[in-house]
Amino acid sequence: MTVLLQGIGAAKGVAIAPVRTIERGQPEIREYELTPKQVRSELARFRRALKAARAELKHVKNKIPNDTATDVAAFIDTHLLMLKDSALTSVPMEIIKERRCNAEWALRLQRDAVVSVFDAMDDEYLRTRKDDVDHVVNRMLRILLQRDQNEDDQLISHLSGCIVVADDLTPADTVLMQHHGVAAVVTEFGGPLSHTAILARSLRIPAIVGLHAARQYLRDDEVVIVDGRQGVMLVDPSRAILGSFKRKQKEIERFRIERQKLRRARVMTSDGERIGLQANVELPGDIQTSTSAGADGVGLYRTEFLFMNRPEPPDEEEQFDTYRHLVRALKGAPVTIRTLDLGADKQVDGVRPGAPASTNPALGMRAVRLCLKEPELFTPQIRAIMRASAHGPVRMMIPMLSNIQELHQVLALVKQCGNQLLTAGVDFDESMPIGAMIEVPAAALCADLFARHVDFMSIGTNDLIQYTIAIDRIDDEVNYLYDPLHPAVLKLIHNTIRAGYKAGIPVAMCGEMAGDGSYTRLLLGMGLKEFSVHPNALLEVKQIINQSHIGKVRKLTARIMRTAKPSNRAALLDEMNNMDGSNSY
Ligand code: PEP
Ligand code: MG
Repeated sequence: MTVLLQGIGAAKGVAIAPVRTIERGQPEIREYELTPKQVRSELARFRRALKAARAELKHVKNKIPNDTATDVAAFIDTHLLMLKDSALTSVPMEIIKERRCNAEWALRLQRDAVVSVFDAMDDEYLRTRKDDVDHVVNRMLRILLQRDQNEDDQLISHLSGCIVVADDLTPADTVLMQHHGVAAVVTEFGGPLSHTAILARSLRIPAIVGLHAARQYLRDDEVVIVDGRQGVMLVDPSRAILGSFKRKQKEIERFRIERQKLRRARVMTSDGERIGLQANVELPGDIQTSTSAGADGVGLYRTEFLFMNRPEPPDEEEQFDTYRHLVRALKGAPVTIRTLDLGADKQVDGVRPGAPASTNPALGMRAVRLCLKEPELFTPQIRAIMRASAHGPVRMMIPMLSNIQELHQVLALVKQCGNQLLTAGVDFDESMPIGAMIEVPAAALCADLFARHVDFMSIGTNDLIQYTIAIDRIDDEVNYLYDPLHPAVLKLIHNTIRAGYKAGIPVAMCGEMAGDGSYTRLLLGMGLKEFSVHPNALLEVKQIINQSHIGKVRKLTARIMRTAKPSNRAALLDEMNNMDGSNSY
């Protein structure tokens, strides 16, 4: 009898393969006392383990495929940085000396101390970052227990072609799994924003996370099905189910091959409507991936990364250099630079030290609110963006606007910066477009008011959905309520698109919804003409746009927007996506 196990879909794709269960959690360790003479050699053993851990991570980094978005390397870099942090280097050595205990035990004690600090944090995102501490500590422990990289590599190389089910996986494990051709990964812990989930998407391995106690229901080597989009694992599938998933797999592969031919193709619906398709970029290295996948430019450049992992924010000059570099790399294609969106899930050091902790950071001092409160943080960025506009087409976009006054305050600052630059004889584009990110329901409802004062709008669905449905976007427990098809969300999106149309200004979408192929046709049906998506999603979205006929999808779009029952909406969406034999799976 087919058994269905439901987890959280983390990376789409279908795999049918034998299962292998593995344990990657904390290795068993115990404390033992050292003689004063042994302490020195124990310290040396600890240092060797640190060195070996760094070497292992560098080795893993070399295995990242070249065409992967740079966030993959960034996760490995985070672990490399932690291996230089005194919390995991000098402090455990102090413990070895003081307590005269073995290195493994010292590391475990220090791990518990660090994790308890994370556990006490209010911010859900930061709380979940303790996983990184565990991943780094477990790597060190495995080395100290003399399970070396070759063993890890060998273990993982034996998993080639299998569906791996683990308690948890580190970012480095995930890179090696992709390298060795693992068919899919399933973890018992973690949510869709865990690093494993993000990496699996970037590396294109079908993945399910948060499938609690999965290993309990599985026998090694039995063939199972993983559907990464639905978050479903099918154990002991019937012949009919197996047959239908094999057909689905073939279809996905056929579409994947066709997609590769679209790199240079223009983006146009089958009824002749030109659609803008741009990339969301966080790190300058992503530009190459985006342009080679045929993006018309960058529709969202998140500037937060520039402010991360450093004690002081970058000054105007450094920001100007980075933005100019970006503009030049784009060789005449436009870039939309978003002003700082710090706060909530995007925390950095060195900005507002000593500020009171917010009990509800997503509703607190973040993004434009923070920038307006701290003009000495904001104006250097505005000036740097304006100066970069002298070197190519730049648009400036303001996140998290919730009322028109905030917009007027920003526009006044822009005017003031422009006057300063003119007086100083510094070049900039005096008609640089300024846009509003529409990601707060209040702004979406008043999109007509915003549209009168800006040159463009861009819908940020990640936050719009969070605020509309009142679900913290990084809280696993309420993830089941996350629903881009919620009628309220669709109404707000539609209202924004219509307001832009009436005011004669372009409206884009840059939230994750724009990059999820299952919504492409619906969004076209709602009148969206500009998409900005993760670099990995560019080709898929282009393929779907080119196979869509706006005239034909409009009717079904109207029906989806009127339908109250979620299952009926999903069925209509399926119908729309399967029209004309296309596939958005
Ligand atoms: C959004 O909210 O949809 C968005 C694109 O911004 P971020 O994910 O950076 O908050
Ligand atoms: Mg946002």
